[in-house]
Amino acid sequence: MSIFYIVATPIGNLGDISPRAVEVLKSVDYIACEDTRTSGKLLKHFGIATQTFSFHLHNEHKKVAHLMNILNANQNVALISDAGMPGISDPGFLAVRAAKQEGHTITVIPGPDAATTALIASGLPSDRYSFEGFLPHKKGRQKRLGQLAEEERTLIIYESPNRLIKLLGELDKYFGGDRLAAVARELTKTFEEIIRGSVSELKEEFENRDSIKGEIVVVVSGKGYSE
Ligand code: SAM
Repeated sequence: MSIFYIVATPIGNLGDISPRAVEVLKSVDYIACEDTRTSGKLLKHFGIATQTFSFHLHNEHKKVAHLMNILNANQNVALISDAGMPGISDPGFLAVRAAKQEGHTITVIPGPDAATTALIASGLPSDRYSFEGFLPHKKGRQKRLGQLAEEERTLIIYESPNRLIKLLGELDKYFGGDRLAAVARELTKTFEEIIRGSVSELKEEFENRDSIKGEIVVVVSGKGYSE
């Protein structure tokens, strides 16, 4: 039986990689990367020369078979994504399920993820939360927003910068403009920014900007929360 490592990597600041993550990435037989070119830079930075292969969300089903062949040949593999924790809005789940079914050992090397980093930075309740990842783009989006408006736990939503204003408009419509929320942008990077306010205040703030760049997490307080 082999070991399948799931290794978290930085979401921006390279200083956030753990010594254990580097050690594991150096010691395994292969590293499965969401994008071999993106991860190549990280691996080079840390002097990791392990052989890589691509393991992308679009070919996850096909690549799982390849991964199982390697594990079944008694070789250890580490999975990394472009940033953060594999399996969190990134490939990972299918591979872990298959490796478990084949009887391999799963070892997670914990580390950064944008969701919990944004949650804590938001100053909104973190005792109970619901991670929503990216909302559906078209089909089912309005229905999901309607359901989420009733959720009492804090919500964590991933969004691209060019859809942020649209999302804030939808939150205004479904949740109401008074709902407390936070926009966390470029976490752990040089231009990190966490802006907290009501949904309508946040909407106004970002509508008044010439451009919105970088990676974004929106944290929304649950229904009924007030300060
Ligand atoms: N696996 C990653 C994790 O553990 O958070 C998430 C990968 S998902 C494909 C990418 C999304 O995560 C971005 O669109 C953004 O919503 C969020 N994200 C990743 N890095 C971020 C950062 N440094 N600041 C804010 N959001 C980030």
